[in-house]
Amino acid sequence: MRAELIRIEDPLKEKEKMELASRIIRCGGTVIFPTETVYGLGANGLDPEAAYNIYQAKGRPSDNPLILHIADMEMLGLVARNLGEKALKLAEVFWPGPLTMVFDKQDIVPAETTGGLSTVAVRMPGNEVARELIRLSDTPIAAPSANISGRPSITMWEDAVEEMGERVDAILLSEPSEVGLESTIVDMTEDIPVILRPGKIGLSELEAVVGPVRVDKAVLGQGDAPKAPGMKYTHYSPNASVYVIKGEGMVERILEEYQKYREEDPVIFAMEKHRQHYEGLKLYSLGATSLEAAKVLFSYLRKADREGHGIVLMENVGEDEVGLAVMNRAEKAAGGKLIYANSKGKMHKRNGVNRI
Ligand code: AMP
Ligand code: MG
Repeated sequence: MRAELIRIEDPLKEKEKMELASRIIRCGGTVIFPTETVYGLGANGLDPEAAYNIYQAKGRPSDNPLILHIADMEMLGLVARNLGEKALKLAEVFWPGPLTMVFDKQDIVPAETTGGLSTVAVRMPGNEVARELIRLSDTPIAAPSANISGRPSITMWEDAVEEMGERVDAILLSEPSEVGLESTIVDMTEDIPVILRPGKIGLSELEAVVGPVRVDKAVLGQGDAPKAPGMKYTHYSPNASVYVIKGEGMVERILEEYQKYREEDPVIFAMEKHRQHYEGLKLYSLGATSLEAAKVLFSYLRKADREGHGIVLMENVGEDEVGLAVMNRAEKAAGGKLIYANSKGKMHKRNGVNRI
């Protein structure tokens, strides 16, 4: 194991351990740390070589920019320009929290961090371990999700150790991620803010604070090249084949597909209220709400692999805003294998997704 494993219970009390982690960041190393969205793979976001180490560790394409994590508003001014009133309002309401905003970048931010873009994505995480690490490191921390590029995001330290133990300098062992989905990304460089990636904070919550907000067409699966470069890559893929099943007759269709794929040892990801329909079949419960489903989705994709399931049959978890964010991830994991229950064959969605 190359990574130093550092268990953190209380970041404000365990000063020595937090100091050790921040020293690694200051020296250009890589540290996996918890955030409330998913675990992040962090390095000094103002140091091009450190940022390069992140791409190396993840096997991430270098045109896919990193999010800069900050601990306070002073750091925002250091990395971003032309903030505007709407952004400040959103920051006041949603930071620290699972919202990322895209701004024009300051010169201090290297092209390596932004994948060559003139804009920079910034977030102030709600997780205390994350904020304390940034504060002690005394620099914005660039951190994409801590998984190997293309794999499901990581929401528990156990998965970080298993997947990344040989690839990073340290891993902070802390609580499972509270939200379980990556942040909502909003582009603030246009007059009307644009959602580039859906997350826990939805359209209506944003609009309640700043008025009209648009949703990028790529998020809606409508053609355009995505403005968040990372959204164009195949994502969240476990080894198992994932099928997402929607629409009237969903349960019956899942039962049918389960029998069809029986030899590949399928597992059903189902809402708790449907458990009774699947008696005797392999099932992971997504809980009672879309928020509960968000929290477990990524760890379930990994668990399905660990337990040797060849097929995942995933229910639609709902059409509310969090539900849509969960299904955005599930459909990417499915790589377009979307089944509308009341139609016959499978829908293969064309949304410009590349496999990498
Ligand atoms: P990850 O941290 O792995 O969830 O990935 C970060 C996401 O933020 C990717 O989808 C990136 O494409 C997106 N992102 C980062 N910086 C920018 C930017 N300047 N403009 C648009 N999207 C960005
Ligand atoms: Mg990611």
